[in-house]
Amino acid sequence: MLFPSSLRQKITFGYLLVAVLILAVSLFTFESLKRVEARILLSERISGLFETAMEVRRFERNYFLHGQAADLSENADYINRLEAMLNDDLALPEAHAQIEVLREKTRRYRQQVGLYAAASANSSQRRDLEQKVRATGKELVSITEMLVQTERQLLQSSLASFRITLVFIVVGLALFMIALGQALSRRVAFPLQQMEDYVAAISAGRRDTLPFPSQDREIVSITLAFNHMLKELELRQKHLLRSEKLASLGTLLSGVAHELNNPLSNIWTSCQILQEESVDADQAHQQILLAQIDEQCERARHIVSSLQDFARERHFGREHFSLRQLMEQTLRFIKAEIPAHLAITLHIDDTLYLYADRQRLQQVFLNLIKNALDASPGSIEIAARRRAVAEVATEADCDVTGDTIDISIQDSGAGMSAECMSRIFDPFFTTKDVGHGMGLGLFIVYQIIEEHEGCITVSSSEGQGTTFLIRLPVDHTRGQDAEAG
Ligand code: ADP
Repeated sequence: MLFPSSLRQKITFGYLLVAVLILAVSLFTFESLKRVEARILLSERISGLFETAMEVRRFERNYFLHGQAADLSENADYINRLEAMLNDDLALPEAHAQIEVLREKTRRYRQQVGLYAAASANSSQRRDLEQKVRATGKELVSITEMLVQTERQLLQSSLASFRITLVFIVVGLALFMIALGQALSRRVAFPLQQMEDYVAAISAGRRDTLPFPSQDREIVSITLAFNHMLKELELRQKHLLRSEKLASLGTLLSGVAHELNNPLSNIWTSCQILQEESVDADQAHQQILLAQIDEQCERARHIVSSLQDFARERHFGREHFSLRQLMEQTLRFIKAEIPAHLAITLHIDDTLYLYADRQRLQQVFLNLIKNALDASPGSIEIAARRRAVAEVATEADCDVTGDTIDISIQDSGAGMSAECMSRIFDPFFTTKDVGHGMGLGLFIVYQIIEEHEGCITVSSSEGQGTTFLIRLPVDHTRGQDAEAG
């Protein structure tokens, strides 16, 4: 596991690293403490040297003063102890030379004391020896005192270095934990964060496959599962769309059959009458019947040609165009049908551009404006604006992802009932008189807006006018922008 390749391994690796580090730090601290402890013990032994030397001198002085054999033996006893202590390994390399001198002086001191005890009383030799014993004894004490000081300094410096090491360890550990935390968060939390962003984008409507935010096993398998799910979703959507299209085709066909049935039966009736009255009918009546046949044929032809127009596979081609210019052109087309008293107002900014199929959208506006005119309004208002994604859509049935261009066509005409509103997008639904409406206008409008991945919704009530709202997505990737030209 040199380079962890899964989130679990990365986290375990992090924990192991921390555990190993803590173990290493504990061992190091334990060793350092052991060294300090050894130093304290050595310091006690060096102090013992000094105290023994002092005792040697105390009994030396007593012996010189009182000449008691007991003091001499105590003195010899302490000299023995001092030598024994010096023969033990003192493990003080810093004062090796001093210890050697001390050994030498102790040996000499023992000789001098032995010679003094053996010398005859009140002799000058004895007095000389007393001076020498005193001098060597003094040296013993001062050397052991120096040793005590040296050892004390060494103990202090080893305690100070232990303290500094401890501070370094604590600071180092803290820095290491911060670095480890950051590395883990970069390697573990960052891919998860990216994953969260991608999933949020998907829930907001994005449908392209997810890239792999990292090569960790868990992330790779989640990404693969997500991409698989997206593919499935797309497939199902396509199925759904197909079955929906088939359903609307069925409705369309039954509508066509129904619509054609009327003129056909009229033609058939007229033909029957003509056949029955062919011999003795008067010319004028025959002319009326023929005119009726002609009219009904024309009606049937009109139905068929509208359907052909709708069904023809015209290439769907987007282009940039000014919405205001298109709307003005559309109004010019139907100028003759607009009553003089009717006020049509346009609230469309010159800078508002669309990236869409121009011809199809013109068809949409034409159908909607014609319907508005048929509702005998006092006024028609056409407005358009760019809606930011952050704006909450109040129309629940018209939700398009991202920024949109909202186009509304509002008339103050007759309006419609809720029942009528629920059917207006069905093919062949019309409330208009025969010859005035075929009920295909809004059906076609609906299909075109769907082709543009937008939505259309209507709000109306009887006597209160009608508003159609079209919402088209702003497509940044293809350069459509409200301000772009
Ligand atoms: P058509 O215009 O041939 O009747 P449409 O599909 O365009 O077919 O319209 C269907 C029906 O929707 C119309 O017959 C009418 O009843 C209703 N409708 C459409 N637009 C309006 C409007 N602006 N005001 C009132 N009713 C409308």
